[in-house]
Amino acid sequence: MNRWLKWGLIALVIVAVLGGAGAYVVLRVPAVQDALFDRMARALMLRDRSAILKDDALRAFVCGSSSPMPDPHRAKACIGVIAGGKIYIVDTGPQSYGNLAVWGVPIQNIGGVFFTHFHSDHIGDLGEFNMNSWALGRKAPLDVYGPPGVERVVAGFSEAYALDQTYRTAHHGAELMSPETWKMIAHPVVLQGEPTPARDRTAVAYDDGTLKVTAIEVNHAPVEPAYGYRFDYKGRSVVISGDTAPHEPLAKAAKDADVLFHEAQGQEMVRKLQAIANEAGNTRLTHILHDIQSYHSSPVDAAKIANEANVKLLVFYHFTPPIQNMVAEAMLTRGVPEVRPNGWLISHDGTLVELPIGSQEIKIGNLAH
Ligand SMILES: [Zn+2]
Ligand SMILES: [Zn+2]
Repeated sequence: MNRWLKWGLIALVIVAVLGGAGAYVVLRVPAVQDALFDRMARALMLRDRSAILKDDALRAFVCGSSSPMPDPHRAKACIGVIAGGKIYIVDTGPQSYGNLAVWGVPIQNIGGVFFTHFHSDHIGDLGEFNMNSWALGRKAPLDVYGPPGVERVVAGFSEAYALDQTYRTAHHGAELMSPETWKMIAHPVVLQGEPTPARDRTAVAYDDGTLKVTAIEVNHAPVEPAYGYRFDYKGRSVVISGDTAPHEPLAKAAKDADVLFHEAQGQEMVRKLQAIANEAGNTRLTHILHDIQSYHSSPVDAAKIANEANVKLLVFYHFTPPIQNMVAEAMLTRGVPEVRPNGWLISHDGTLVELPIGSQEIKIGNLAH
């Protein structure tokens, strides 16, 4: 009989005899605490997540589904894409690294970061992604792609975390924590051709012959430029909208993709919040809530884009306002079933979409479970 089973049985007997007060007493016994701790630590530390790296599918997961508005249950913008054994992170919103750590995602296998734009809800955790993937054993500097300006963001985060790197190298040794592999390399992605009023340019951000990542110009003015990304891998494809007003060229660039992750702002809900702020005499918030309506898309807008692009699955993320229950979900997606009866879902942090290679199948799971 193993230790856990033995102590578990003893605890059960005592609890049965003494009741709730007995449980309290039993849980204060060091040997019981040790057995429980050992069991929990093994479950977490020996957890094997390597299956998500298997090269039998293109995978994508939501590591942050919230907009800048506070939401205790969702990290800010972050989508992970897994292809060829590497994890690519599109936006590193605040709290998103913590999600990956809790879920046991082997982030040392990070292949790069792709920024859609530089609003803080999309970049906040870059330093955490770099520091932790390095500490866990990343083998090379971290490639960071994004619109021009990415050099400044990378330089700023590098400087902010530089002292921490020196502490860790001093403490654990340069062999384990090399200053060379800690570095980040900025790759500005420049759109092809002259700017057009339609904002319909693209650029190949990355192409290794098997995985191709295309930057797609979107409309998040006055943020110029702002990108979405399309990942194509072995016949399967994932598109991520980033932040954008309803944008026709995105539908064109997302043509026939398997999955479109699209931002979702409940415009009617935001107008109600604006009215409440106005009633309360909060002119500053009233102003901001008015302004944000111009550069985001409603779920119905996103559904129309998804239909036009002929994507198989539409996944909503980047929710404004925060949605924490069925009522809010229903309000946010009002009108969507009329436009797109099937093939859409509301994501949560952890939502995982798997696209097996050589098939049309789409499997939905959750990394948080
Ligand atoms: Zn955003
Ligand atoms: Zn934004």
